[in-house]
Formats: sequence, C-alpha cells, structure tokens
Amino acid sequence: MRVSSSAAVAASSEVAGADGVRRPGGEVHAWLPGQNQTVCGLPLSRTRLRRFPHVPFDYSSTDVLTEADPEGAVCPRCLAATQGRRREEKAWVRHAPRP
Ligand SMILES: [Zn+2]
Repeated sequence: MRVSSSAAVAASSEVAGADGVRRPGGEVHAWLPGQNQTVCGLPLSRTRLRRFPHVPFDYSSTDVLTEADPEGAVCPRCLAATQGRRREEKAWVRHAPRP
C-alpha cells in the first residue's frame, strides 16, 4: 500500500514539546487524517492511539531515536507503507548501524 506524503502521526502517548506543542511519544504510527485507523490497520478507538494531525509522519527506517526523543518505537509496517517500497518485515532498530 502506498501512502501519500499527507500522512500524519498517531501515537500511544504524548509529551509537551519545548514550545508547548504536543509531540508524539511511545509507539508511533502513520495515520491519514479523516480515517479512524492507522495505516497498518489499527483502529484508533480501540487502541487509544492519540492523533497528531499537526505532526507529519516523516520518519524513516534510517532515523535514529535517542533517549532525548519521546518516541520509543516507530511502527515498521507504517514505515514500509509510507516509504512505498517493499522491504522485509523486521523490527525497527533503535540504534544506528555500524559504519
Ligand atoms: Zn502502524
């Protein structure tokens, strides 16, 4: 499934950013505003994911999250869908690959 660049973020928790704007935290999924489920098919109402229509889903599998980032994990299925490429299903890795 290919998703346009208009995908926003749905996440399992939220934190207040330095400027007071909500930022997604916890488990992060791609979400198309207007839909009631994430790109990977999780129903927002049952999973209690919070919607962040002001936050574009611009994560990529090469992103590295640090302890300073509130996001704990990015859904690999949503990543694959928004990148529009076929790739192996594998767990999203927190740490940078070795050079
Ligand atoms: Zn997802």
